[in-house]
Parts: sequence; C-alpha cells; structure tokens
Amino acid sequence: MTVKKFDLGILCGQFLSMQDHEAKVEKNIFIGLKKDTIDYIGTENKKEECEQYIDASQKLVMPGLVNSHAHLPMQLFRGLADDEPFDVWLWQHILPLEAKLVSPEFVKLGTQMALLEALSFGITSIYDMYYFENDIADVCHSSGIRAVVGETFGDFPAPDNKNQNRSDLKIVQSMLEKYGTSHSHIRPILAPHAPYTCSDETLSLVRDFALKNKMTIGIHVSETKGELEKSLTDFQKSPVKRLHDLGVSEAPCIYAHCVHVDDADIALMKKKNVRISHNPEANMKLGVGAAPVPKFIKAGIPTGLGTDGVASNNDFNLWKEMDFAAKLAKLSNSDNTAMTASDALRLATSKGAEVLGFEKTGQLREGYLADFLILNLNDVNLIPSQSTISSLVYSTTGREVESVYCHGKQLFHKGEFKTLDKDKIIKECETYIAKNF
Ligand SMILES: [Zn+2]
Repeated sequence: MTVKKFDLGILCGQFLSMQDHEAKVEKNIFIGLKKDTIDYIGTENKKEECEQYIDASQKLVMPGLVNSHAHLPMQLFRGLADDEPFDVWLWQHILPLEAKLVSPEFVKLGTQMALLEALSFGITSIYDMYYFENDIADVCHSSGIRAVVGETFGDFPAPDNKNQNRSDLKIVQSMLEKYGTSHSHIRPILAPHAPYTCSDETLSLVRDFALKNKMTIGIHVSETKGELEKSLTDFQKSPVKRLHDLGVSEAPCIYAHCVHVDDADIALMKKKNVRISHNPEANMKLGVGAAPVPKFIKAGIPTGLGTDGVASNNDFNLWKEMDFAAKLAKLSNSDNTAMTASDALRLATSKGAEVLGFEKTGQLREGYLADFLILNLNDVNLIPSQSTISSLVYSTTGREVESVYCHGKQLFHKGEFKTLDKDKIIKECETYIAKNF
C-alpha cells in the first residue's frame, strides 16, 4: 500500500489565510496537511494524494481565533452582580467570593466549562490569568487548545496564596518544570494582577523571575480612570510609566485593557516589548471607557482581542468581540473608518497570535501550524453577502463554526467535542453551583 502525501486535504470554497495580516478571501483553494503542519496551499485539488479528505467547497476555511485575555474559571460567576458599579462589583462581590470558593476543584470545573464555550466559538489559542494556574494548565493541555497560562500575583491573600508566603511563585516553578517556556501548547507566564494591587517589591520580584527564566509577564493596566488617578496621586506617574520605571517592561509583556493611556504611555509601550490585549465588550459592560486602539495599531504595537472573564462579558464569543471592537472604535472616535472589519479580523487572528507568542500560528500558510476553522455560512443572516470580510465581523453569530482544528487535530465538529465530555462537565457544574452558591 502506498503512503499518501497528505494526512488531511481540504477543498475550501472560500479561503481566508490572513497571510501577512491581510484579510483577503480567495476561492477554490486546496490545503494539504502533514501531521500538525500546513504543507501545501494552492489551486490544484490533490484529493488523490490525501489519506483523509474534506470537501468544504460550500464553506469557508480561516485561522482559529486567538483570545488574548481571559479568566477561564470565572465562567462559574456568569451573571453575578451584573450592572453594579465597577468597584462594588470587584471588591464587594468578585474578590470575597473568590476568597471563599476558589480551589483546585473550582478552577478545574470552571476551566472545563469555559473551554466548551471557547472551542465551540472557534478559539484555538487563549491567554488565561487566574489562581491555581497549574491546574488550569493541565485542563487546557488535555483539551488540545493552545494556552498561555498566567499565575496571578498580588499583595492580597489570594485563594492560592492565603498566607502570602509566595506559594504563587511555587506554582509558576511547578508549571515551568512541567512545560518549560517553549512547549507547543502550554506556555507558563507570570501575571501580576494590576499595578494598583501590587507593590513595587512584588512587581520587582516578578520582573527578576521573568528576566531570569526568559518568561512573559501579563498584567491588567490602566483599566479604569480611578486607577490612573490613584497612580498619579500615589506615585506621581501613570501605571504604564511606573511599570516602565520599575523595569517590568524589560521582559516581554501583555498589557490588558490600556483604556486610560496617553500618547506618552503609548510611546513607552512601543519602545519596550509590550503587546496589548483589547477587551471592548468587558470595557463597555463595566463602563470603564474606550481604549485608543487605532493609536496602538498606528504605533505598531501588536494588539489582540480578549473577552476577559465571563463575569464581565458575559461570554466567550470572539465574533461579537470583533463586531464591538470595530463599532466602539467608530463611535468613540466619531469616525467610521477608525477600525475596519479587516482590522478587527487581524486583532482576532494574526495579531492576536503575535500577542500570545506561539510561533507559526494565526495565519494559514505553508510551514505554519494547522490551527483552523471550517465555517458554514449558508444561513439567512449571511445570504446574500456582498463582502465575506464584512459578514464575518458584522453578521455572524459565532454558531457558524462547524469544525475546529488545533495543531492539526480536530477538537470540535458539528456540536461534538472530541477532547471534553460535555454532558459530564455540565452535570458536575450544575451540582457544584447548587451546593456552593
Ligand atoms: Zn481581566
């Protein structure tokens, strides 16, 4: 028996590669995979050379989506204290409940629930930041998704650092021993919660550990006006300038939110190795403002899209996030060209991949890893369509995602999960909620 050239071949009716960050749809393209990698892209249908073949001639194939900021276990808080003021929501509801409930059991269950939703919407890479991150890393690993996993640091008795004896650092060390810094799917990082919850000493400790071990730092930055004002009062500088002066941004950094930043902050972030996660829906829901994303893009700072936790969103639908990102930029700049549908697609795919740092992801091209989606666009909300790019951003619901592949492996197909037991997870979740909330 002869060995076929491709493990999997797909005939794509519409093909969106995002090559070189360009949002351009091509018709009737064949892609051939060898194991986890895209080996061939062209117009010639090489069906006979494929072990397995998918006819997607009536469908669209595109890169998997990248969620650049999330708190997976917060799935279990969906709908909690919605519509309360930000400080009340955080300090009176979320943080006390986290202190009471968050445990390895809580984070494993919440992460499984969150991954069901994330995969169903076509997310193939994610950046998570939470507690007991080693347990979250293991759940992500067994699901087959790519995940940057950030253990939270702060100067408060966190659920996994109750005695404030740096057990957070021990969790980072254990992840580092298990996965290292260049694992194909799981990349541990350090995630100080925010400048306003971390002392100079804590931020310096994180910086030193990151630089020594060649790790990335992820942190919430300038999310609210109150945070900026307090920093100006306490330190006479903005949160971005404080992180810069402390040398935190000497390490590669992912700053989430960056709503209240000025031109000087943007110049500092550009000068150092900072990448930004834009979270339009969470920012809108918590009423904190609109981040100056067109300025980030113009400055050349890699910027991705994030859902944030479901407690402040309230879903993992990155399709809605693209829609909101474009419309919020248009509204807040009083300029309907401030962000185009192509810009929004870039944030959710190729640029998001730059933010997370997984090499050879975020674009479909020869030699790149096979993280891709097959979408069925044959529904009344998408017919007719004068522009596929516009429809993907402004008209999809997220339920058009038919198949999800990460690293060449199918993780989701027509409502079925290949690596997660949906019914069992939902049952366990319902039991946990009934018992503990
Ligand atoms: Zn967050």
